[in-house]
Amino acid sequence: MSRPVLRHPAALTTLLIGSVYFMAASVALMVSRFEGGLAFIWAANAFLMAELLTSRKAHWLRAVIACAVASTAATTLFGMGPLAAVPMAAINMIESLIVAILCRRFVPDHRVTGSVRPLLVFILALCGVADVVTGLLAATVASQLTPVPFAASFLQWYTGHALGGLTFTPILIMLLQGDLRRWLRQTSPRATVEAVLLLSLFTLACLHVFYLARYPMLFAPLLPLVLIAFRVGPLGAAASVIILAMIGGAATMSGIGPLTLIAGTTGERVQFLQFYVAVSFLLCMPVAAELNARRRLFAMLLESEAQFRAIAEHSGDVVLNIDAGGLIRYASPSAHEQIGCAPDLLVGEPAADLVHPDDRAGVIAAQHRAITQPGSAHKVEFRPFLPEGDFQWCEMVTRAVVDERGDPNGAVSIIRDISRHKARQHALQQVAARDSLTGADSRRAFLEKLDQEIDRMSGGARSSLLLIDIDHFKTVNDRHGHGAGDQVLSVFVERLRSGLRGGDSVGRLGGEEFAVLLTDSDLDRAARLCERLRAIVAEPTPVGENESIRITFSAGLVALAPGADRSAMLEAADKALYRAKHSGRNCLRLAA
Ligand code: GH3
Ligand code: MG
Ligand code: MG
Repeated sequence: MSRPVLRHPAALTTLLIGSVYFMAASVALMVSRFEGGLAFIWAANAFLMAELLTSRKAHWLRAVIACAVASTAATTLFGMGPLAAVPMAAINMIESLIVAILCRRFVPDHRVTGSVRPLLVFILALCGVADVVTGLLAATVASQLTPVPFAASFLQWYTGHALGGLTFTPILIMLLQGDLRRWLRQTSPRATVEAVLLLSLFTLACLHVFYLARYPMLFAPLLPLVLIAFRVGPLGAAASVIILAMIGGAATMSGIGPLTLIAGTTGERVQFLQFYVAVSFLLCMPVAAELNARRRLFAMLLESEAQFRAIAEHSGDVVLNIDAGGLIRYASPSAHEQIGCAPDLLVGEPAADLVHPDDRAGVIAAQHRAITQPGSAHKVEFRPFLPEGDFQWCEMVTRAVVDERGDPNGAVSIIRDISRHKARQHALQQVAARDSLTGADSRRAFLEKLDQEIDRMSGGARSSLLLIDIDHFKTVNDRHGHGAGDQVLSVFVERLRSGLRGGDSVGRLGGEEFAVLLTDSDLDRAARLCERLRAIVAEPTPVGENESIRITFSAGLVALAPGADRSAMLEAADKALYRAKHSGRNCLRLAA
């Protein structure tokens, strides 16, 4: 779910916060300075903390100034007087700022009430840091200016501020973030009625415990409180804590209710009530926050599930979810159309069964790589092994699926038909492998065959390489034209072919230079074959209308050596060819 957008409060809102702060501070000072020192109850800072935690930092100064003025005025009029007013205002501001800064620092999504961790950050920032620091400062001021000793003043500040902060800040944050509006919009009328009934029940329980019950039944409101945390969520839990604090506070301060059983001053009773409310808060708020986080997670899960389903169900590609053991956990509906198999029938079957046996090892290796290297996609091409369907070639892109700890527990594979792409690729390769004029192997294709033959020779085969260059070919072009030259080249290759066996290859290395790979031929046999070729090509070749020419060639022959270097073989044959040219042409020379 979206991160709450921090507010840009208007100047009027700041004024309002200042006024509310003033009222909350004044009432607290008027009714809860039981010992003439610090107030026992302090909710005013909750307004400032909620304001700071929900607005952008640029607005903090304005809010702090407004509340500092309000605090100064309230202390001057109703508290420890003008002398204490400025330091007390500063201490109040420090408390709120410590909480706001720590929460902003340690709650990345700014949602303090959203789940348990941010709530813990808030509780620790308030009770563990801010109220300890400011309690020491406030107790120093109070013990100087009033008869209340340092330790008692510290306890009064700490309990009053911790309770005020815990009780009111979360609900104020929720209200300022618009959670109530959102809750009302998203909650069904039935759930709203249920929430109202539960809160009413809780209010009645509180009223009963604090005003009517003859026995100290402080545990009784806890049951509906937990129920509210479960059923209504953080908003309901926060509202309940406020109801509990208000009813308990009003009764205790009026000398009514179970806390009057404590043989102590009103101040001590109010302190006890504060512990009670704080425990109630700690009981229900984290539960509500955790449930809320889970609810949000569940909603996100449903949303992403719906998205995945939409993609998988409308994709032309087949989507498979495969477990770590290679069994199909899910197959998208397109499996039916694309591979002719109902998705339900594929579930539980080994994914490798869809692959041609010859390609299985490659596909299994890709799956294995995907699982051992999660985070990257692994591509493999394979031929399918299917009873139906007209895929000849498929491409599979696999990526690991990881669990909540980041450990891979399977893979998602997307299978795509690449038959047409493969056919095109094959056709292009065929074109590239042939010389377009003569139909001989292209230079590249011939050299590949030569490499393969040299590899094959390690098994004991004996083959030879013949390099041929037509003699005085330039003269053919010069006398009869380039077109005739082309025709001669074409006929030349045709004739060479007619004199070779099926396993031999002719390649055009360039211009009028050719190479012949004579498989399973030793030098003697190859030399004999060369002579036969010479005789074949020497037959007159018709050029133009009535003319014909005789073609001769010079040749160099080398016996291929197992494991030899291709370039070395070609060079040796070329040297022999050179010698043939220098020996007057139309002859064969063997490599040294
Ligand atoms: P040599 O006996 O020394 O080999 O003499 P040559 O004339 O055959 O040798 P050179 O390398 O001087 O000439 C090769 C000629 O082959 C030059 C070039 O115009 C011609 N040639 C190369 N490729 C083609 C082609 O595709 N078509 C035609 N018609 N001629 C080509
Ligand atoms: Mg030549
Ligand atoms: Mg040449």
